[in-house]
Amino acid sequence: MKLDRMRRSRNIEDRRGGGRPRGGDPGGYEPGGGSGLGGGQGGGLPVRGGGLGILILVVLFLIFGGGGSLSGLLGGQPGAGGSGAGAGTAPATQASGVDTGASASRSEAATADLVAAVLGSTEDFWTGYFARAGETYAPPTLVMFRGRTSSPCGTASGATGPFYCPADKKVYLDLSFFDEMANSLGASGDFAQAYVVAHEVAHHVQDQLGILEQAHGAMSRRRDAAKGEDSVAVRLELQADCLAGLWAGQTVARDGSLEPGDIEEALGAAHAVGDDRLQQRAQGYAVPDSFTHGSSEQRMRWFTTGLQAQGIEACDTFRARTL
Ligand SMILES: [Zn+2]
Repeated sequence: MKLDRMRRSRNIEDRRGGGRPRGGDPGGYEPGGGSGLGGGQGGGLPVRGGGLGILILVVLFLIFGGGGSLSGLLGGQPGAGGSGAGAGTAPATQASGVDTGASASRSEAATADLVAAVLGSTEDFWTGYFARAGETYAPPTLVMFRGRTSSPCGTASGATGPFYCPADKKVYLDLSFFDEMANSLGASGDFAQAYVVAHEVAHHVQDQLGILEQAHGAMSRRRDAAKGEDSVAVRLELQADCLAGLWAGQTVARDGSLEPGDIEEALGAAHAVGDDRLQQRAQGYAVPDSFTHGSSEQRMRWFTTGLQAQGIEACDTFRARTL
């Protein structure tokens, strides 16, 4: 991917440079998603919503069987403003940008720069997309860290992998995850990394649309919603893959920033973090009833669906007959 014309995001909180994890254990649960590309579990979300998400929300409502929260979502609460709902969290507005002195190597500095460029591109895309629907996109903050750091969704570490925490509207990313992805999972390349960032940002988009809260509600009420081939969890993750593809298709794939092999790198990453592949690696066999993110084939296919789509309607995995 060519980065030269891309704007770098300032919504980065760089905790690598000797930064201490703040506070103690902030929550009662670990971030979800053993694949390292999970959407963090969370509660107490400020309720947001609006016209953009109505189609998907209606479908969610049908699937979830009248949870009674649809009217609340559609009504929305103006001015929630992303000031974290999690108790004891710092305001999400302290964006510091990438700490250029914090990188341990030239390649890490390049990775940090790529993350800032991709994050900036997602901000421009989703800001425009929401604006066309009469909505306001409040971009997430991306926390770069090394080793471990605290979040309202639990401690972030190499074991958790990247995740989005709805309680403070932040994406947590240890840059060394990309080394692990390349070395252990065989998914390398800058666009593999871009896919990861776009996927986590997509969880924030789901959060703003009210989808994340409904999905988490269903997952906490019903065990079969939390895992399994046909679960809400899988539909949520495949939708994030689709929204990541939508970002790629509407931005870098259009403006000439892509280089040969980039899309293949993203598909390689989507394949690498499929539930079946990860389970095969870990235990020698896959158990579809325990899937939380979808198979490699599904993740690649939904990324491609988004890549070729014009809008989020194409990413309605909650209505899709074939997941
Ligand atoms: Zn995810």
